[in-house]
Amino acid sequence: MFDVAVIGGGVIGATILRELTKYRLNVCLLEKEADVAMGQSRANSGIVHAGFDAPVGSLKATFNVLGNAMMEDYARELGVKFKRNGSLVVAFSEEELKTLKELKARGELNGVKKLRIISKEELFEIEPSVSKNAVGALLAPTGGIVCPYKLTVAAVGNAMDNGATLLTEFEVVKINKGENAFTITAKDGKSITAKIMINCAGIYSEEIAKAAGDNSFTVGGRKGEYILLDRECGDFVKHTLFFTPTEKGKGILVSPTVDGNIILGPTAEQVSDKNVETSVDGLKDVQEKAAKMCDKVPFGGTITSFAGTRAYCNIHDFIIEESKTVEGLINCAGIESPGLTSAPAIAKFVVEDLVSKFFEMVDNLDFDGQRKPDDFFNNLSVEEKNNIIKENPAYGKIICRCERITEGEIVRAIKTNPPATNVDAIKRRTRSGMGRCQGGFCQPQVVEIIARELNIPIEQVTKSGKGSYLLRGKTK
Ligand SMILES: Cc1cc2nc3c(=O)[nH]c(=O)nc-3n(C[C@H](O)[C@H](O)[C@H](O)COP(=O)(O)OP(=O)(O)OC[C@H]3O[C@@H](n4cnc5c(N)ncnc54)[C@H](O)[C@@H]3O)c2cc1C
Repeated sequence: MFDVAVIGGGVIGATILRELTKYRLNVCLLEKEADVAMGQSRANSGIVHAGFDAPVGSLKATFNVLGNAMMEDYARELGVKFKRNGSLVVAFSEEELKTLKELKARGELNGVKKLRIISKEELFEIEPSVSKNAVGALLAPTGGIVCPYKLTVAAVGNAMDNGATLLTEFEVVKINKGENAFTITAKDGKSITAKIMINCAGIYSEEIAKAAGDNSFTVGGRKGEYILLDRECGDFVKHTLFFTPTEKGKGILVSPTVDGNIILGPTAEQVSDKNVETSVDGLKDVQEKAAKMCDKVPFGGTITSFAGTRAYCNIHDFIIEESKTVEGLINCAGIESPGLTSAPAIAKFVVEDLVSKFFEMVDNLDFDGQRKPDDFFNNLSVEEKNNIIKENPAYGKIICRCERITEGEIVRAIKTNPPATNVDAIKRRTRSGMGRCQGGFCQPQVVEIIARELNIPIEQVTKSGKGSYLLRGKTK
């Protein structure tokens, strides 16, 4: 029996799992997909928000500011890139300038440091691409950027290295509460037992709570669509640029990503079926708004588009508490933005303040929080690379030409926790297939490497798990 079962391998479940392994507890993560980071934590803006947005006194505000302060060390320990690039909320009218003052005041009450309203002259000096229609901006130097799925993968991997169990393709459909434990059953009939359960199922956290007998909240979906520009456009902007929020919404952002691309989006569309498809209208909307924020957006550098669905709940704040109706169930539900930013702080709170009520928390003296970066090879000198290639020639063979990813790195992704077992999982860990050609050249080779390393027929290799087969059979 497990002490704790965490349901949902997004950034919230991942960081909680890792925090749990700091103690002598037997813990597992149950994820319905073939890999972790497949929900909101796969497709979001990757912004580590400063914290001026959320209402004063809300959980969102509290965890945002705490998480922002923790993120730099947290990411460094896990070998994940983080950059404090600063954010700018840009005003396009006198009315919007007034809103910037309100945002600044709110941010200061939330505990955000160094907020400053800057003139249009200063704005154009630090961000020359911003539209000359802008009249000023709120500068938040503490804003940052991180890769959301790399953070999630690294937190799960580090938790596994410290003893946690990961069960993928475990779609929880039934939960029975017995005298001292939950029996948690997956769609294919497999089941596990755990003394307590933490619900981190993102947009499906309502369904998990209901399966356990807690009907106290609802979670809906709000879709956001994005356009991603090539790394060649990487210098286009340096800060994360937001529109000033109005009654109609927050608009989109234009931002560098921590890997050097430019991201435009997201839209905000209420959806009933929690779908994550892009649409012609959505992407057109992103283009129009980006062109309002900046002059000469290099749309020609578009390499892909994608969508994610936010989990927003009926109480309009994070739900992070023990269920009032089901003893032993902790809900981390409705964690929409700024959930990525807040994750390290939420994880600490959940483990130290909520899980600790159920167990004697004995330190795991063997816990090692450091993880080797997935992209370690790229950061080496030529001499260091040559030494590794001598020992393992696979590091001398380039597979992804756009991103210059070697066979050694791909094999490593398959063999490192959490193991990458499909093409998209390799892509999320190594960036193979994320460049200009989007896998056009490297995908066949990646498929062959997966089949060889997992010792499975090549026809069984999938794009992203569950029947997403790439090959139907031999033509000759
Ligand atoms: C468009 C968009 C933009 C955003 N931008 C930002 C941003 O810039 N900065 C920021 O701080 N936050 C941002 N967010 C919010 C942030 O992405 C989320 O708060 C965070 O990813 C939530 O993580 P989670 O672990 O709660 O949920 P998720 O990442 O959705 O993870 C839930 C997991 O549960 C699994 N699951 C679901 N049902 C079951 C089941 N029955 N059995 C087993 N597993 C199950 C899913 O497969 C999924 O992997 C954004 C969100 C979106 C959608």
